[in-house]
Amino acid sequence: MSSFAVDAMLGKLALWLRLTGHDTFYRADVDDDELLRVASSQKRILLTSDANLHRHVVESGIRGMLVRGGVDDAVADVFIEFGITPTIDPTKSRCSKCNGELIQLDGTEKERIRNFVHKKTYDYYDKFWLCKDCQSVFFQGGYWRNIQEYMKRIEELMRERRDT
Ligand SMILES: [Zn+2]
Repeated sequence: MSSFAVDAMLGKLALWLRLTGHDTFYRADVDDDELLRVASSQKRILLTSDANLHRHVVESGIRGMLVRGGVDDAVADVFIEFGITPTIDPTKSRCSKCNGELIQLDGTEKERIRNFVHKKTYDYYDKFWLCKDCQSVFFQGGYWRNIQEYMKRIEELMRERRDT
């Protein structure tokens, strides 16, 4: 599976790459030099919407892609280019906040996060995911449906692009 380094302008794209399970370097305060260094030393694909930076990427022999358009177009184009399926399996997702790996907690294991979430949430959900690095806790709350609807939208966009 490809790993990515994403420029500071493309936070939403970074989020969708992490949710689909891709190791994705993203920091809102990263500068171009650091991004190039990370992509080069960690063999990451560098995604940017900055034509100037993209030129440096090409000149440096780094694999990259110039991303254009709004978020939806960017996500659809990148998914097509790198063969990414627009489905989200939370057992494979990376932490949306820090890119850390998630541990799935089932049944009695959820005891570990009892103090990290509201009691109602704790009682209602059976499965939780805990980030190994930043200790964020995830569960399939109301936003889960939004996530799935967004992936359907991307799937449609990808189909339209393939058909034209
Ligand atoms: Zn995390």
